[in-house]
Amino acid sequence: MEKEKTILVTQSSMPSLDEYMEEISPIFESKWLTNNGEKHQQFEAALKKYLHVKNLTLFVNGHTALHTALSAMEFPSGSEIITTPYTFASTTHAIVQNGLTPVFCDIEPENYTIDPDKIEQLITDKTVAIMPVHVYGHVCNVDRLTNIAHKYNLKVFYDAAHVFGVTYRKKNITEYGDISMLSFHATKVFNSIEGGALVYRDQNLKAKFDLLKNFGIADAENVVATGMNGKMNEFAAAMGICNLRHVNEEITKRRRIHDHYMQQLGGVNGLILPKEQADVVSNYAYFPVIFDPNRFSNNRNDVYARLSQHNIFARKYFYPIITDYACYREKYNNGTTPIAKWVSDNVLTLPMYADLSLEDIDRICKIILEK
Ligand SMILES: *Cc1c(COP(=O)(O)O)cnc(C)c1O
Repeated sequence: MEKEKTILVTQSSMPSLDEYMEEISPIFESKWLTNNGEKHQQFEAALKKYLHVKNLTLFVNGHTALHTALSAMEFPSGSEIITTPYTFASTTHAIVQNGLTPVFCDIEPENYTIDPDKIEQLITDKTVAIMPVHVYGHVCNVDRLTNIAHKYNLKVFYDAAHVFGVTYRKKNITEYGDISMLSFHATKVFNSIEGGALVYRDQNLKAKFDLLKNFGIADAENVVATGMNGKMNEFAAAMGICNLRHVNEEITKRRRIHDHYMQQLGGVNGLILPKEQADVVSNYAYFPVIFDPNRFSNNRNDVYARLSQHNIFARKYFYPIITDYACYREKYNNGTTPIAKWVSDNVLTLPMYADLSLEDIDRICKIILEK
């Protein structure tokens, strides 16, 4: 039998080799490779323009950005941050690495984002902030979250790693909340190989973030904070500049793929597909499908295994939930977030990238629907 073509869950977007070569050629003349070089400055400016935001700071990756956002706040150790367990390791790690305590709130079943109805009961006199996650390109209920934050005087830090370019009511989603973290990792809708950024409301934070991402070095003889090395290098910035030129086109292609999946899988009993949100323009970052074990003929693990046998690699994302990680399960009880647990046990994200062909989608869907 002929070996079946391999389809991975994602494939990184890249410019042409010529375009990238042209972008990096000045670096070979300047020999300035990192530390706020010319490409770094150009990329930061280009992103602000693209996202229509005033305050943005680049980082070497999204996680370092999120870590730095929290450390810049200088919250007392042991302060509590309300977040969800339905996310990637980074969100919780950033909280714990800063000596803060994550408090896990359940998600709502429509969009897999934090459930605003369950937040207030978790607030204590140690709560300092909420860290919700915009999941898959869906956005959190930012209006309700803003109200809760005002009522209790809490900060809101969004993990916005999945929502590059997404708008809500015609505003970039990073305009909501105090700080949002974007990731430009190779697997995201938009990448700079590795990379990330913070977008924030308070312009005074710029100097602090720039300090903290460079070891806290204020000048040649003064180190004033316990910072880290969070700087983006010139080659990554050059990749970001190139990819930014094509990102709208990439998102348009993703929408076509999303629509084709919806056509093939829509209306099948027991499959829960992504839903459109009012006033949101999505980036179609992922195509999550829930295989309801009581209503669909095969459970998630069976579908995953069957796709793998055909060299198609979907992803159990997010699975397991954070509170089931070996490093956290002794400390936290996952019984308090039953919806997150259920979604995590039954979800697969299907292959999704701009250059995935419609024929490949047909092949994937046929295997999923085989009895
Ligand atoms: C990718 C991702 C991150 C971390 O971003 P990196 O750039 O890989 O450090 C954080 N949170 C979520 C939800 C992510 O998907």
